[in-house]
Formats: sequence, structure tokens, C-alpha cells
Amino acid sequence: MSSRTKNSRFTGSTIPQNSKIDNEKSGQEPRTKNTIQNFSSSEFPDFDICIIGGGPAGLEAAIVARTLGAKVIIIDDNPGLGGQLIKQTHKFFGSKAHYCGVRGVDIAGILSKEVKGSDIDILHNATVVGYYDDDIIGVLKDDRLFPVKAKTYIFATGASENTLAFDNADLPGVYGAGAVQTMMNVYGVVPGKRAVVIGSGNIGLIVPYQLLQAGVEVAAIIEIMDKIGGYYVHAAKIKRAGVPIILKHTIIEAQGKECVEAALISKVGGKYECLSGTERTIECDMILIAIGLSPLCELLYQAGCRIDYIPELGGHVPYHNEDMMTTKKNILVCGDLACIEEASTAMLEGKIAGAKAHEALYSRTKQGKKIVRQAKQELSVIRSSPFEERITFGLGKLK
Ligand SMILES: Cc1cc2nc3c(=O)[nH]c(=O)nc-3n(C[C@H](O)[C@H](O)[C@H](O)COP(=O)(O)OP(=O)(O)OC[C@H]3O[C@@H](n4cnc5c(N)ncnc54)[C@H](O)[C@@H]3O)c2cc1C
Repeated sequence: MSSRTKNSRFTGSTIPQNSKIDNEKSGQEPRTKNTIQNFSSSEFPDFDICIIGGGPAGLEAAIVARTLGAKVIIIDDNPGLGGQLIKQTHKFFGSKAHYCGVRGVDIAGILSKEVKGSDIDILHNATVVGYYDDDIIGVLKDDRLFPVKAKTYIFATGASENTLAFDNADLPGVYGAGAVQTMMNVYGVVPGKRAVVIGSGNIGLIVPYQLLQAGVEVAAIIEIMDKIGGYYVHAAKIKRAGVPIILKHTIIEAQGKECVEAALISKVGGKYECLSGTERTIECDMILIAIGLSPLCELLYQAGCRIDYIPELGGHVPYHNEDMMTTKKNILVCGDLACIEEASTAMLEGKIAGAKAHEALYSRTKQGKKIVRQAKQELSVIRSSPFEERITFGLGKLK
């Protein structure tokens, strides 16, 4: 048995003969070159660089790698490109070079346009579900599983929302804050009338503000720590809007028969234990959980990359060096998957990963070297801010 067929899910016969990769180049027929439909059942589609995840990190990686001359495909499980950015209606801050003053959704538009205007293949609505022998990935699209093979992979899968265990946490009306943001800002659905938000990090501060803009009442933001987790600028906005941020409290129960009718909260002590006698209910019809994100690194476990536990970077993260290379020479990472940070840093890491993936396949070019040098310089400026101390400390643990 060849190593390719060892993994029985990927014998040649599983390749759908008529499937094709969407090419979003407006006004053009989908390109057939390098797309799955052109390959016979005994062959795998072959790419130089396959980028998994079409968020800001993956898009920048694709743009750079393509600019330097590599044959690139982006695979993303959403119908459009942009990752988290498509639901961010607020203006970003930072420096002009990193889209300060531009809304996240507009940054997604700018990057997507650039990708679509380049010779980059895009596979939408497709989920990478496994990493297999011979460095082949399994892709699920339209209920069909098929293999894709690339010389190098850049994983830019981002992160998933953390959940919290409390009584009745599965009652309808308990949501991840990011899910509510997607419902409202992407699909135009306002999921309730009165919200309680758990967690005061940036997501826990931004999403309630967007709820207020959509006409939803925000009863309170509950924070277990003795200080607000997110940026002061976001907290100040929400406080000005009259939303109380209740520190040193947590949720203990979602109350209601068929769906959420109230949140039972309690004060916590020095060891975060609930203090009996301090319980109170807040009426609401939705509870938003905003207690952080975890890097989506399951595929990298499967690929055999070393995974380290570094709480400052978001928990389990793939080991990577400053060139965004993992312990497997054909796999690079970037963005929230490598470290829960921001879109600006995700884009810079994407640039480094794209240039370094190209360099590993061909040779170092002057242009690639310049891109990497500049991106590293910009990253070090961002990370020298006092807000980034935790990240810098975490990155120092990657050895
Ligand atoms: C509410 C909120 C507000 C924010 N505000 C700011 C801000 O003001 N400024 C700022 O700089 N940053 C902000 N951020 C952070 C920023 O959005 C993220 O850091 C950034 O989007 C990370 O980019 P990424 O490309 O690594 O991941 P993502 O944007 O998450 O993109 C990853 C993509 O990969 C896809 N994917 C994952 N797994 C698979 C798979 N197996 N197969 C196929 N596709 C897959 C995902 O669906 C997604 O499209 C905010 C985030 C949130 C949630």
C-alpha cells in the first residue's frame, strides 16, 4: 500500500470529477487551470502555496506570495473573504498604515478586491477537515470530501470563541458575542431586546455598543476581574451610553423556561468564588458570552506540528519562529491562530508568512526580503506599546 492510499479517505477515486474551484474574478469564466476539475482520479490538484483561512492574515499572505510569483489558492469556509473583519462595523485605530479610521468591513473589501484582482484561486464555502499522509489536506465542500495538495501550507484559521459553564447555559438566548455580531452585522438579524454581556474585553465592549446602535437595550456588562479587560476608549463609549460595567461579578445561571428570561449573577471573592447572599437577577432575553478566543490549531496537531501552551498568546498555539515557520518545514502560520492579537498584527504576520513561504519554495528575492524586513519592523513598533506587554512576554516563551 502506498503511503498515499494508507489513509483510506483519500484514494484517488474520492476526487469529484466535476467539482470546480470558484474563481471570483468578476466577469470572467472560472479558470480551469490548476482547479480540481482538471485532475484525473489518480492525481491531486497541485499548488505551490495553499492558504487555509481568508481573514486578514490569510489574505495578506496570499497577496504577498502571489506578488512574488507563487501559485496560490485560498480555502475558506465562508461565502466571502475577510474572516472576522466582515462583521466589524466600527472604525479601527492605530496607524494609517494599518487602516486607522477605516471600518473592519471596509478593510475586508479592500483586501478582497486586491485578491480577486490577482491570479489567486479561491475556494469558498469549503472547510479543511484534515491533514493527512503525504501532506495532503482534506476539503469538505457541498457535502463532498476531496484532497488538495500543495508544496507549502499557510494556516490562517483564526480563533474560536471560548464558552462558559453555568446552570442552563444551553437555554436558547445564550450566545457567543461574536455570533451575535455576525447575526446583526452580516445577516441583519437582531436576536433580542435586552442583553446581559459576560466579559469586558474588547469584544465584550464593542458588541454591546453595536447592540445599542441596533436599538437593543444592554442591561449590564458583567466582569469577574476587578478591572475592565478591554481598551479604555471602548469602555468609555459604553459607559457614556449609560451601560453599567459590574466588576467582580459572574453569572451563575440563565433563568427561563423555554428561553432566556433573566441572568442570575453573583459577586465573587478573592478566589473568584461566588459569595452567597450577593445573588441578584437581571431581566434579559439574551446572554452574550465574551470571555476570550482560542486559536483554532486542531489541524496543526494532526499535521504533527509542535503545539505549546502559552496563556498570554491565547492558550494552545503552534510553535513558530519570527518567520512564522512551525516545526514542520512545509507549514507556516499567521494571525489569531499564532497568537490572539489584532487585525493589524494578523496582516503583518500574513505578509511575513507569504514572503517566507515563497522564499522556501524558490529563493530569496530582494522584494521578499524588503517585505519581511518592513513587516517585522512594524510588528515590533506595535508590540512595543504597553498594551502589548502580555503578547511580547508570551512570544518570548516560544523557544
Ligand atoms: C468583536 C471584535 C472586534 C475587533 N476589533 C478589532 C479592532 O478594532 N482592531 C483590530 O486590529 N482587530 C480587531 N479585532 C481582531 C481581529 O478581527 C482579528 O485579530 C483578526 O480578524 C484575525 O485575523 P485572522 O486572519 O487571523 O483570522 P480570522 O479573521 O478569524 O479569519 C480566519 C478565517 O479562516 C476561516 N477558517 C477557519 N478554519 C477553517 C477551516 N478549517 N477551513 C476553512 N476555513 C477556515 C474562518 O472562517 C475565517 O474566515 C476584533 C475582533 C473581534 C471579534
